[in-house]
Amino acid sequence: MDYCFGIDIGGTTVKIGLFSEVGEMVMRWEVPTRKGNDPSGLLKDVKDALENCMSEKKIAKENILGIGMTAPGPVTADGVLHNAVNIGWGAVCLAEEAEQIIGISPVCIGNDARVAALGEAAFGAGKDAKSMLMVTLGTGVGGGVVLNGHILMGESGVAGEIGHMTIDPYETETCGCGKKGCLEQYASATGMVRAAERFLKKTETESVLRQLEKVTAKDLWDAAKAGDRLANEITDFVCDRLGSAIANAVYLVDPEMIVIGGGVSAAGEFLLDKVAKAYQAKVFAHSRNKKFALAKLGNDAGIMGAAALILSKTE
Ligand SMILES: [Zn+2]
Repeated sequence: MDYCFGIDIGGTTVKIGLFSEVGEMVMRWEVPTRKGNDPSGLLKDVKDALENCMSEKKIAKENILGIGMTAPGPVTADGVLHNAVNIGWGAVCLAEEAEQIIGISPVCIGNDARVAALGEAAFGAGKDAKSMLMVTLGTGVGGGVVLNGHILMGESGVAGEIGHMTIDPYETETCGCGKKGCLEQYASATGMVRAAERFLKKTETESVLRQLEKVTAKDLWDAAKAGDRLANEITDFVCDRLGSAIANAVYLVDPEMIVIGGGVSAAGEFLLDKVAKAYQAKVFAHSRNKKFALAKLGNDAGIMGAAALILSKTE
């Protein structure tokens, strides 16, 4: 039996999964993320973790098909990870460095949002679809396009980066990326809170949200579900922008289905319906009936997608 490792590098922990050659997760654990100016310290911790696992499970190095790894930033076609600011690295050849330090090859890397999309396509909500668009609504808005089992990475690593599509050219506030009017400014958890604050300021409409000291995205969606009129106006506004961005993406890649994930997707079918309706209002009639589904893998999408990076190569 052959195996592979799927590794998801996060800001606080590195998640590691051992997978069989048919994609079954055999073991899953985490190590703390070692911060530094470069990835060498973190990769040494990963090497120790993998070697412990291999000796415990009595797996020889020859039986490891490779390591898939998420990268916390854009990855260009030459394998360079850029702007991994959250973790303190500059531009690094992450795959090459990982192969040298860990001593296992190949190491395949991909941007974390793209790899999570691949995970959902290979093992989760998109398992039976030939193509899908994934949109992750979390602290930011991430995304990925999977076509025929392969994730579109792009030359400069931004293929599927739906969160930074310009959706309002007249926006006055600046996005985390430095531009103005990105989808992320409305559809991320923080963007939704910002939209709520704007609505609360500019209207007099009664709302349960006015009783809260600080509104969260969850408060907003809970209030909308409970029938609060203003909360529904705000979530309609947010979903209208999200629906526009998805429609724009569909005009470009026309996937079979759209998968919505990330923390905000905990609002469930109620959110999914609103997004689907907003999308349907923006596209040609014959392309309205796309399947919208919620992501299934949660926090494991990263390690599973990372494993799929290796397993899709060895099929
Ligand atoms: Zn942006």
